[in-house]
Amino acid sequence: MTRVTTPGDDVRVAFVGAGPGEADLITVRGATRLQNADVVLFDSLADPALRALAPKARWIDVGKRGFTGVAHAPRGGGRENTGQDTINALLVKHAQSGARVVRLKGGDPSVFGRLEEELEALARARIECEVVPGVTAALAAAAATQRPLTRRGTGRSVALTTAMTKTGELTAGRHADTESFYMAGKHLAALSRRLAAAGWPAGTPALVVSRAGWPDQIASEHSVASLGDATVLHSGRPTVVTVGVGASAVGTPGKHGDPGRTAHPTATGTATAAVSSGAHASAGTSTP
Ligand code: SAH
Repeated sequence: MTRVTTPGDDVRVAFVGAGPGEADLITVRGATRLQNADVVLFDSLADPALRALAPKARWIDVGKRGFTGVAHAPRGGGRENTGQDTINALLVKHAQSGARVVRLKGGDPSVFGRLEEELEALARARIECEVVPGVTAALAAAAATQRPLTRRGTGRSVALTTAMTKTGELTAGRHADTESFYMAGKHLAALSRRLAAAGWPAGTPALVVSRAGWPDQIASEHSVASLGDATVLHSGRPTVVTVGVGASAVGTPGKHGDPGRTAHPTATGTATAAVSSGAHASAGTSTP
């Protein structure tokens, strides 16, 4: 039987999802854990503004695997990622020293966050922990563009997929009505070919959103066949690619096979994502 831990003050380590972008996308519970932290081990993708929630804590940058940021890299960005073993050792060391530790991860800790390795390290050391969920990038992309991932009747399943294998190979299949691909931003043309080979029709809507949840988020709409056109627009930015039913605009008839016609600007507060057709137009409140 799986024991479910009730979060509480006695738990020494909290894995906290920082959310995908700006600091206020963290959950209230995540913010509370930060406020109580003595030590915060954080990834580069987390908004530096989150430091205001734990000004007295010791903040330790342990880098981010899978993406080497540019615009939002912390000081010292560009250096090697801290190895997973080192992160595991730091977690155990600080927890055993009696510190309250927050392991702050971009998006949601349970989605492509190598959480299992850190959970295992704590379990081996018999240290209790909790996981506080966060908003994962695919959800932020859907929110930014007002394109629901599920649609009544047509979009009944969603898959979160990484296109990259452990050995750095790019693969793609067709697992759901809507599929969100992480860590494929540098390989959009190759992803397009792999998607076609996996059986996605050429005209299937494909939405590319980078820096979702940040003021400079950018979204552009394509088809499976033209996905490679998004390469330059989103270059150097964390990017999620939504393919299938959930990539199409709401209230725009005839998107299938005609995905590039309609510009569908959306604006939410300061965060503006204009969905541009093809790779030529871009928009945002600031340039990357
Ligand atoms: N745990 C994170 C994912 C970490 S893997 C989450 O739940 O979102 C890193 C990948 O996530 C990036 O390569 C990119 O594909 C995606 N990603 C993270 N933040 C993003 C953002 N703000 N906008 C778009 N994609 C993002």
